[in-house]
Amino acid sequence: MNLSCDVIHDLLPLYYDKVCTDRTRDMVDEHLLSCDACSRELADLQTRVGVSADPSAEAAPLRALAALLRRRRRLAFLLGVFAVSVLGVAGCLIGLATNPGWVDADGLLHEPFALIPLGWMFGLIAVVSGAAALVVGTRKRAH
Ligand SMILES: [Zn+2]
Repeated sequence: MNLSCDVIHDLLPLYYDKVCTDRTRDMVDEHLLSCDACSRELADLQTRVGVSADPSAEAAPLRALAALLRRRRRLAFLLGVFAVSVLGVAGCLIGLATNPGWVDADGLLHEPFALIPLGWMFGLIAVVSGAAALVVGTRKRAH
């Protein structure tokens, strides 16, 4: 079957994307062997589509934006942990300062001892998360 250039023109995008049937592909191949205009059109299509269809080039700005958002999210998380830890330290200090402890009638000391290790734990978390936030916040971009 001999197809007209108009039909080939309509089929070239499918041919280029390799989504046409083998039979159609064979017919287009056969036509391209004998028709310079359609061969040029295919070459032009390859040039145009080949440049814009580079997924890595198109995705580069989106990947950079995604990396920036990931970094900001990580920084926000670390700052949140830091803030909560600082509040925890402050709460423990206030708790210890406002509850000096007392001795009951049996001579048993009642003091909020649990606030001491809890305060140290919050302090350690605050130091680690603050340092991590500093590193994430001041690190230069990868590219
Ligand atoms: Zn043709």
